[in-house]
Amino acid sequence: MTSAVETEILLADNQQLRSELQDLLEQAHINQSIIERHQAFDLQLISASEFRELIETMLVAMPGTFNLECVTLSLLDQDYAIQRILRDLQIGLLEFRNLLFLPARIGLPASEHPEQPYLGEYQAATHAPLFPHYLPASVAILPLTRQNRLLGYLSLGSAHAERFTPQMATDFIRRLATVVAICLENVINNERLKHIGLTDPLTGVNNRRYIEQRLYEEVARGQRERSSLSCLFIDIDHFKRVNDQYGHQSGDDVLREVALRIKRELRLSDALGRFGGEEFVVLLTHATLEDAARIAERIRAGICNSSITIEGAEGGLLITASIGAAALTPPDRTRSAEDLKQTLLKQADQALYQAKESGRNRVMLAIPGSEALTPQQA
Ligand code: GH3
Ligand code: MG
Ligand code: MG
Repeated sequence: MTSAVETEILLADNQQLRSELQDLLEQAHINQSIIERHQAFDLQLISASEFRELIETMLVAMPGTFNLECVTLSLLDQDYAIQRILRDLQIGLLEFRNLLFLPARIGLPASEHPEQPYLGEYQAATHAPLFPHYLPASVAILPLTRQNRLLGYLSLGSAHAERFTPQMATDFIRRLATVVAICLENVINNERLKHIGLTDPLTGVNNRRYIEQRLYEEVARGQRERSSLSCLFIDIDHFKRVNDQYGHQSGDDVLREVALRIKRELRLSDALGRFGGEEFVVLLTHATLEDAARIAERIRAGICNSSITIEGAEGGLLITASIGAAALTPPDRTRSAEDLKQTLLKQADQALYQAKESGRNRVMLAIPGSEALTPQQA
C-alpha cells in the first residue's frame, strides 16, 4: 500500500470516529438534560408538603415539563379514606379532573406483571379508566406501590405512537414511580395526622380546636368578602340523666346519634364540631341570623322528632336539645377577627343559656351588636 492510500484510509477512519463520537456526545447531552429535568422534577415533588401542592405538581406541572398531552393520577380508595381527607381539605373532586379514584386495580392482561410499568400502545380495554378525558396514542402506566401495597397509578399519555414503546428503557420511569409513591404516601399520612388532631374520636365530627380555627378563618373571610356568617351553640337537655339512668355507653351512643342528626341538616360548606361534653357548635357560612334561625329550628326538630335506640330503653329514648344562635352580618372590618370570633361564640353561648332558662328544647337568637335576645318563633 502506498502511503497516500494509507493516509486516505486513516483520514476516512478518523472521520468516521469523529462522527460517532459526535453522536455519542449528543446522546450524552440529551441524557444529561433528561437527568437534569428529572432531578428538578424530583425536587419539586419532594418539596410538596401538602396534598394540593403535590397533586398540582403531578397534574399541572408535569405535562409541560415532560411534553405530555395528558397525565392522570388514579388512586385506589376503596374505603373512601382519601376522598374524605380531600373533602376536609375542601379540595373539590371537580377541581382536578385528572385526579381519579378507582374502586379496584385495573385489569391488566394476565401475561403482564401488575406491578411493572407498562409502556406502549394505548389499549382502551384496560387503559380507558385511566384516561377518561383524553385519547392518547401511546401511554406509560406506572403502578405506584409502597411496601407491596398498590396505591394507584400515574398514567402518562402522549399523542405520539412512538413516544412510549415496549422496547424503551424504563429506568427513569421506574425511578419516577418510586419517588411519586413515596411522596404520595408521605402527604397522605401527614394529612391523616392533621385530620386525627382535629377530629373528635367519639363522634367523628370536628373537635373544638378545628372549630375555633375555622371560625377565625371564616370571620376573616367574612370581613374580606363582606359576607355574613352565623354560629349555633347546641346543648343536649338533661343529658346527665341519660348517663345516670342508662350508663355512660348509652350516653355515648346518644352523642353519636345527635351528631349525625345535626350533620344531616348542614351544607358541605358548614362545619360541625363537638365543643366539649354534650355541646356542639355549628358554623354556618353565608348565613344571616334569619338563615341560622331556620337551620337551628330544623336541627332542634330533627333531634327530638324521633327516638334514639339505646340499650335498656324500650322503644328508644326521646332526646331534646336547646340552641343559641348568633350572627355577624357581615363582620365589622374595624375589629380584629379574633375579637369578633370570641364575641360571636359568647353571644351564641348566652343565647343558649337563655334557651335553657326559658324551658329548654328551643332556639334563642342573639341580636348582633347587642346583648339582647329574642325567642325564636318556630
Ligand atoms: P342541661 O339541660 O342543663 O344541659 O343539663 P345536662 O344534664 O345536659 O347538663 P350537665 O352539664 O349538668 O351535664 C352534662 C353531662 O354530660 C355530664 C357528663 O357526665 C356528661 N358527659 C360529658 N361528656 C360525656 C361523654 O363523652 N360521654 C358521656 N356519656 N357523657 C358525657
Ligand atoms: Mg346539657
Ligand atoms: Mg352542657
